[in-house]
Amino acid sequence: MGKDDTAKYTIATLGSHSALQILKGAKDEGFKTLIVSPLDRVDFYQRFKFIDKILTVKSLSEYEVIEGKLKQEKDVILIPHGSFVAYLGAENNKKLQIPYFGNKTVLDWEQDRIMQRDWLKKAGINVPRQFDELDDVTYPVIVKTYGAAGGKGYFYARDKADFKKKIKNFKTEQYVIQEYIIGVTLYVAYFYSPITNQIEVMSMDRRYETNVDSLGRIPLHGQQGLDIEPSYVVVGNQPLIIRESLLPEVYSMGERVVEASKKLMGGRGLFGPFCLETVITPDQRLFCIEISGRIVAGTSLYIGGSPYSDLNYDEPMSTGRRIAREIKIAIEKGELDKVLD
Ligand code: AMP
Ligand code: AMP
Repeated sequence: MGKDDTAKYTIATLGSHSALQILKGAKDEGFKTLIVSPLDRVDFYQRFKFIDKILTVKSLSEYEVIEGKLKQEKDVILIPHGSFVAYLGAENNKKLQIPYFGNKTVLDWEQDRIMQRDWLKKAGINVPRQFDELDDVTYPVIVKTYGAAGGKGYFYARDKADFKKKIKNFKTEQYVIQEYIIGVTLYVAYFYSPITNQIEVMSMDRRYETNVDSLGRIPLHGQQGLDIEPSYVVVGNQPLIIRESLLPEVYSMGERVVEASKKLMGGRGLFGPFCLETVITPDQRLFCIEISGRIVAGTSLYIGGSPYSDLNYDEPMSTGRRIAREIKIAIEKGELDKVLD
């Protein structure tokens, strides 16, 4: 295969999360683009010139319809993002027969909070303490449901009485009780190329979560007597950079996570975009609260490039575009199998 083959391929994704960034990047790299859009978002996606084709579905959860429609298209490569698991579920993601950018085995390690923790620990990453027995708990804690829900439904408990009160209204059976780390949240978006074996820091951001990030706007005396609890529902993202002296550790963490994944997952590990969601404590330790094995929405802050991608590229390089670039390089080298599942 040669250079001209790029234009033969269509980069496709589901219409939500970071779809605009992904398809803009694909168009910038010379691919055709396609979006699978729910009926009520078609008018919205039609606004963007870089989207060549729109396939319409009633809902993004219609796995069979989506797969059926995509199978009728030629040379499609599907780019997963946060909505793939949220709407299709991990099992359906694994079943998808359309060429898929990334390693689907990673889903198993990410979905299961025990396996995810094991992976991070093997990579020498600090993780918050987790408690199995109620009697062992040291407070404050955050109680988390399973699965990618964007922080929805989590609760904070300051002590045992608080925990007992709140757990009664908790609707999920599968949850974890985790030490609440007090510090600055920082989400690092990486890209690992299985072709060059290089890791890149693409960007950093912090999520803006309601209402935990806005409580500081009301002074404590104004909150007293009101029944306000912190909630962690993500509504957007803000840019952030890290002290340069912490950057070597940030790079090293990314490398360690990739190396550990190769060992744990048997050869081919994590590649492409991924994110370490961290909280940094006053003693400048980075605790990882979650790993995401695909593009995260906070990278859409940097469709025009980030302070970190600018260090490596003389052109705007978003994570979406970096994915398309990797596919393009793989096509040129005849190594597409290295990046698809
Ligand atoms: P949506 O397209 O808004 O329905 O979101 C689809 C999935 O992606 C949901 O699970 C959201 O929680 C998650 N999501 C959307 N935007 C963000 C964001 N900025 N940061 C983290 N997760 C997000
Ligand atoms: P997650 O779904 O793990 O990304 O968590 C959603 C949000 O909950 C994060 O962005 C943080 O604001 C908060 N959070 C999660 N785990 C912790 C923790 N151990 N300590 C403090 N805050 C946390």
